[in-house]
Amino acid sequence: MRARRGFTLMEMLIVTAVIAILVAIAIPTFTASLEKARSAACAANRRSLKGLLTTAWMLDGKDGREGVEATYQAQGGNFTCPDGGKISYQLMANGQVVVSCSRHAPTGASTAEEYLSLLSGISNIAVSKLSDKNLNKTYADLAAYFRAYLQYKNRTSGSIDSEADSSVAPVAGQVRTYLETEYPGVDFTSGSWRIYYQDTNRDGTPEQYYYLWSSTNVAKLTAGTAVTVTRYDVLTKAYEQTDKATVSSLTVSGRSYRILSLDKVSSGDWTAVS
Ligand SMILES: [Zn+2]
Repeated sequence: MRARRGFTLMEMLIVTAVIAILVAIAIPTFTASLEKARSAACAANRRSLKGLLTTAWMLDGKDGREGVEATYQAQGGNFTCPDGGKISYQLMANGQVVVSCSRHAPTGASTAEEYLSLLSGISNIAVSKLSDKNLNKTYADLAAYFRAYLQYKNRTSGSIDSEADSSVAPVAGQVRTYLETEYPGVDFTSGSWRIYYQDTNRDGTPEQYYYLWSSTNVAKLTAGTAVTVTRYDVLTKAYEQTDKATVSSLTVSGRSYRILSLDKVSSGDWTAVS
């Protein structure tokens, strides 16, 4: 019997071919998931920076530009691209902050992102005391931002509540739960708020534009329950309070929410907050 001294050429070729096939399968998968991870990390960094800059815009007393730039200079270096892309920001006329990376495509103005920008600012305010005079400017800024947001969406009226968007069904969700996931550690349970804007050009209804705030969390209350709310009227710049506001029920995308309601409150029910 002939002694076997090694592998035949055919065996070697087959083994090499099998290895080549395995490598060909593994490398793109591995590379793709690495690429995906780096892209996701970059998007997360851009989103964090956007939240930070948007908050700076809202808290700045003037047009917000200086506050945003100062914040970017101080903290922008903490938000880098894992692929070495250059991260930059742009402040739009309506206060929207766009953060982009030279290597990765912008995440775009998704509804969720717009909400996060808007609501990250609100969260700073909702947990604060309304009597703080320093907040007056901030409330006005917030309202202006909301109005710009509606115009950006080509809407002439709308409201956003601490629980849901009352106007656009598909994007409504449990805003609070969403925020708690996105901003762990921030307390979103200490109150309820609502921003409301109604243009005049529909049926002659006078323009209304206000911000409601209550220290009561209405999420678990029965519809019809009376709550005390404070209203900041953007048009008259007046702070007023009433105990005749109620909790009402809102169904969006088949899900029921509780929101602050003013339906049964007449103008005589308000008292000025000094
Ligand atoms: Zn990047």
